[in-house]
Amino acid sequence: KDITTDILVIGGGGAGLTSAITAAENGANVILVEKMPAVGGNTIISATGITASDTKLHEEAGLPFTVEDHIKKTMETGKGLADEALVKILAENSSAAYDWLVSLGLSFKIQSPEEPFWIIPTEGHYGAQLVKAFQAEAGKYKNLEIKVNTKATELIVEDGKVVGAKVEGEGGTYAIKAKAVVLATGGLNNAPEMIAEYNSNYKGINAEMTTPGPTGDGIKMAVAVGAQLKDMEYFQMRPLSANGHWYKEIIVNEEGKGGILVNKKAERFVDETMKPWDLGAEILKQEDRMAYIIFDTDVYNTKDGKKAVEQGKGVKADTIEDLAAQLGLDAAVLKATVDAYNGGQDPFNRKTMGKVTVGPFYGVKTLPSSHYTMGGIAINENAQVLNNDGNVIEGLYAAGEVVGGLYGAGRVAGNNTLDDIVFGKIAANHAVGK
Ligand code: ADP
Repeated sequence: KDITTDILVIGGGGAGLTSAITAAENGANVILVEKMPAVGGNTIISATGITASDTKLHEEAGLPFTVEDHIKKTMETGKGLADEALVKILAENSSAAYDWLVSLGLSFKIQSPEEPFWIIPTEGHYGAQLVKAFQAEAGKYKNLEIKVNTKATELIVEDGKVVGAKVEGEGGTYAIKAKAVVLATGGLNNAPEMIAEYNSNYKGINAEMTTPGPTGDGIKMAVAVGAQLKDMEYFQMRPLSANGHWYKEIIVNEEGKGGILVNKKAERFVDETMKPWDLGAEILKQEDRMAYIIFDTDVYNTKDGKKAVEQGKGVKADTIEDLAAQLGLDAAVLKATVDAYNGGQDPFNRKTMGKVTVGPFYGVKTLPSSHYTMGGIAINENAQVLNNDGNVIEGLYAAGEVVGGLYGAGRVAGNNTLDDIVFGKIAANHAVGK
């Protein structure tokens, strides 16, 4: 009961759906397999919006954000490590990507004059709207079939060319043969062991900020057919997160106000103002790979402080000793830790000291989580997968978070759904010979 199609897309997040729609638009027969019961992936939890440059929106608002600005910002955020040729393609196609989203019925505004690179929905949750619009569009094509609960397990190679994949679906295991395969399986956010394999600093990282699907399957399948990987050691990590949310580091490092982090011994262990990824790595070295954020009412009264307490299910107490009791920490040690910090004692050379003096006091448990996988499969400008010699693996494409090379060591928020669309389209167009 093997089946045959023109284009097989593996993964039904933003990149896979865009690819499938684009291939179908071009008249190809398309099957998209999604291992979960529903499409959406981590695209559906994408909260901010999309980055775009030189769009109609920028023109109308008189707020310039040019393609050159976009490239520069992306390269700088990636510490110069991203592949500039790919970044250029990303930025140059962002205006068309924006137009496409508008054509699907979404409506956007520019985030703010200060941040003109962010295009956000005029209302509602971005990721949910995006996935809904893609599903509606996909539903228009009779030549596009979405098979949920269907997991690709292995790519099929014949004469050095990828010609399909083995899948496990309702009714068992079978092969889907295709002229080309697009890998769009997302990142590693729900594969903590794989994250630790690629970067041992992140051993024990949490998988709270993810949907279940992104478990690195695409990376494994691609490596098995000789694909080259890029930048695999880089993950966007949110050191201060719990209960599926993340809290801005500002709660521990706002000048003159910031709180502190303590471990289960109620002791500080780090300069809380260090870069988020370093901070996360330090928290992961502590007992149970977690820490408590301790702060006072001055910090609580900031938007981020309140958010941390509410979403992190934090505790509140009139005294530091009572706070310690509620958190299960040694009260005398926590008091001594806070007093030392308030007195300006700091063995960690913290850049700017704050104070924890104004009661009531708050404590929030925090667990570092992976938020984005920067590295992934190497591709060329056609989204074709490259092998370790830099040559194309015929018949194999990749798009979305499974791709490496677009981010280097850092990601501009919102570039990710842009790259889903830009490279999802490029992959499909090239695969159908357009
Ligand atoms: P992107 O933004 O790159 O599209 P997402 O995380 O939004 O990434 O989507 C990736 C999708 O791929 C998820 O819905 C996930 O469940 C799906 N997926 C991952 N591995 C497989 C697999 N082996 N077979 C089918 N679908 C998969």
